[in-house]
Amino acid sequence: MKTRKPTPKARIADADVVLIGGGIMSATLGSMLSVLQPEWRIVMIEKTDALATESSGPWNNAGTGHSGYCELNYMPDPDNGAKPASIASQFHLTRQWWAHLAREGRIEPAKFIHSSPHMDVVFGDRDVDYLRRRHQTLSRDPLFAEMQYSEDPAQIAQWAPLAVQGRATGERIAATRHVRGTDVDFGELTRQLTNIITEHGGEALTGREVGTLSRASDGWVITGHDHAGAGFTLRTKRVFVGAGGFALRLLQHAKLPEVRGYAVLPVGAAFYRTDNPQVTSQHDGKMYGQAEIGAPPMSVPHLDKRYVDGKEYLLFGPYATFSTKLLKHGKLSDFFTTLRWHNLHVIAAAGLQNLSLVRYLIGQLAASPEKKFAQLRRFFPKADLADWELLEAGQRAQLVKPDRRRIGVLQQGTELVISADTTVSGLLGASPGASTAVPIMLDLLQRGFPEQWDAWRSVLADAIPGMTTTTWDAATVAESTARTADALHLD
Ligand SMILES: Cc1cc2nc3c(=O)[nH]c(=O)nc-3n(C[C@H](O)[C@H](O)[C@H](O)COP(=O)(O)OP(=O)(O)OC[C@H]3O[C@@H](n4cnc5c(N)ncnc54)[C@H](O)[C@@H]3O)c2cc1C
Repeated sequence: MKTRKPTPKARIADADVVLIGGGIMSATLGSMLSVLQPEWRIVMIEKTDALATESSGPWNNAGTGHSGYCELNYMPDPDNGAKPASIASQFHLTRQWWAHLAREGRIEPAKFIHSSPHMDVVFGDRDVDYLRRRHQTLSRDPLFAEMQYSEDPAQIAQWAPLAVQGRATGERIAATRHVRGTDVDFGELTRQLTNIITEHGGEALTGREVGTLSRASDGWVITGHDHAGAGFTLRTKRVFVGAGGFALRLLQHAKLPEVRGYAVLPVGAAFYRTDNPQVTSQHDGKMYGQAEIGAPPMSVPHLDKRYVDGKEYLLFGPYATFSTKLLKHGKLSDFFTTLRWHNLHVIAAAGLQNLSLVRYLIGQLAASPEKKFAQLRRFFPKADLADWELLEAGQRAQLVKPDRRRIGVLQQGTELVISADTTVSGLLGASPGASTAVPIMLDLLQRGFPEQWDAWRSVLADAIPGMTTTTWDAATVAESTARTADALHLD
């Protein structure tokens, strides 16, 4: 009997750094490494046929340049502005890196970022009182100095006409508005940042799925296959796992003790979208509101003006959905492949502590399109269903971590994991996401590349002066805002 020889795996040239995943996180890190160490060979490997097809794609996220101006879920206590302040200062760093690249002519801001006032609109006594106290707290911080507040329906009608037209008179309403908000097409930005990698001699290989990561004497061996099943292999000194929802699975493959006990809970999302110019022309900016009781923090509803490929849209959502896929283009079995004997009790404990979330997800799954649309009408009373289509957005793999006291906790933020020998790292979790990509990667460069960091620090500090800022006083905020707005062509 004849035996078939296994097909030899195509050998890709050795790399200094491999970035697994073609989303905003890998692209941001790749852009920084290409500028800092141009002689390094950087290889990005993306499973789908194009970059930014998962969470970083423009219709898979809301495109909010998160600055803490409008996201009410960052500030459940109206007297504590620490989290919005942290997000605002992180977005200053992100904007500074983009502005630096724009000044150098490496990226084209007009294609991915637009000024878009960030607003909150709330109704009823309880939420109006909350918003007024939130505004009082934030306006004491220079990071939010330009934030406006109003309870006057005529003023709010000027800021957000769609929110006021057709609303029953007598209902108390309040709004805040910050003119420095932005809308960002993170998909376009991912492609532009990846161009920086290839312009420096790196490669962006699409249509190739990484299957395994194994340690070698001088780094890592990565193997995988393309859509036709043909295998590939490459060796690299370092790996960054920027595989979004699939990152935990790959870090488990790499046998990283740092992720022992970790699990992920997938939560999907959907948005309503319209491109009817009669509707889109009537709303400017991003208008956030209060989440329903029991809703996960990332389900705060918002009506957003979006700018994608030169066209204007309105987007409303997100509506939470549930699927066991870890990626929008993944498999239903993906979630189960992350289960291990050491994380089962962790995820079970986190589930039991978040029964209101589970109930909310079930309610959302059962909600008819009409019921979903009623939520949009709460924001935009005259909305017509005929103008809107429902889109499936990105999957978020919420991180669940072991906890000594509570056994397992559902974590809202992201976590950067770096192996003890610093040769492999990865990003887990979902929020606040793309807007904080630059501070996340600064942290990775500092902790993950200790031999290079001293040389890199001064180059980075010239590009991103905010990385050495300890106090965001009024003068620092004004200077950073003006400099980045100028380079990014923002108001
Ligand atoms: C509904 C929703 C709304 C959001 N809104 C905002 C917002 O308004 N503002 C904001 O800043 N952030 C927002 N986010 C978060 C933001 O989108 C994400 O944090 C960010 O896009 C994550 O980028 P990433 O590069 O880590 O992952 P992704 O963009 O998901 O990229 C990961 C890539 O890895 C690839 N991949 C996976 N497995 C493999 C493998 N084995 N081999 C090769 N490739 C692989 C995938 O195909 C994918 O392209 C939102 C997210 C969601 C889901």
